[in-house]
Amino acid sequence: MIVVLKPNISRKDELAVLREIRKLGYKPHVMRGVARTVIGAIGDERKNRPLEPLATWPQVESVTPIQKRFKLVSREAHKTDSTITLPNGAVIGGKKVVIMAGPCSVESEKQLLTTAHAVAKAGATVLRGGAFKPRTSPYEFQGLGEKGLKMLAKARKETGLAVITELLSEQHAEMVAEYADILQIGARNAQNFQLLIAAAKTGKPVMLKRGLSMKVEEWLLAGEYVLANENPGLMFCERGIRTFETYTRNTLDLSTIPIIKKESHCPIVIDPSQGAGRSDLVFSLCKGAIAMGADALLIEVHPNPAEAWSDAAQQVSLEGFAQLMDELKPFIAAVGRG
Ligand code: PEP
Ligand code: MN
Repeated sequence: MIVVLKPNISRKDELAVLREIRKLGYKPHVMRGVARTVIGAIGDERKNRPLEPLATWPQVESVTPIQKRFKLVSREAHKTDSTITLPNGAVIGGKKVVIMAGPCSVESEKQLLTTAHAVAKAGATVLRGGAFKPRTSPYEFQGLGEKGLKMLAKARKETGLAVITELLSEQHAEMVAEYADILQIGARNAQNFQLLIAAAKTGKPVMLKRGLSMKVEEWLLAGEYVLANENPGLMFCERGIRTFETYTRNTLDLSTIPIIKKESHCPIVIDPSQGAGRSDLVFSLCKGAIAMGADALLIEVHPNPAEAWSDAAQQVSLEGFAQLMDELKPFIAAVGRG
């Protein structure tokens, strides 16, 4: 249920509503907008007493049911776009398109710092880099772990970039959150609900990738785990799904941009690198994503892509990235998000 409060009511009147919601057996989630405060009241409506009588309270404007299975991530619960502000000032879901760039895996301090300086110079504001890597084969490079996280923190200090890195396992939630500004939940873990809860509980923003064969509703419901655990900093990331097509590594489903915008208030990030699995398609996919309203792009960049320890075929070079950023300018300007 959505309980909309009247504008400019006192804190005391708001607390009385929250108390009543709890008394009736629901968990209130407060969402403050510019004009109004909205409360998502989550609970089993078949078991609890009805919330509708709250509509007669003088400080309440309306009480309406949320029809969808996903509640707090839905547009019904929160009409305006949510924004996520990072410590370096970058805003995801705001006016500007945010560019997140960096290597698939952190390999060495030199590799990471070289990339970080280059992507910052070209206009990225977030550095990506995997320290814990979800590899299909156990014999492939698994990431540098905490050593890699320390390198990311050093790169942040030197460049002012914010850091996004993958959280692979619940047991590392606190540790990864110490170093990261955004926790990435990877495609292979998109429905690892305990991991999502652990990520949410760190309080850091969470970027939830779409699972390899995940339907949009399942993805939205997975995102619900983050908001339902008191973390408002959720963004979705489309990174391609598995189809019959093998020409590309995955099929990047750009239709999720308008779909997520319609169904949810949370920002949407596009990852053309895992999406195509080929560096030669990254430019076009970035342009398409911007034109369709993506809030951010997550792009794999490596100083020597051919020698990369993971995802060599899809990473763009430092020079390629600088050129890409130049080419994207008119597209960003065309959608008014420069
Ligand atoms: C990655 O970003 O390098 C990655 C492993 O992503 P995904 O979970 O989308 O495969
Ligand atoms: Mn990768």
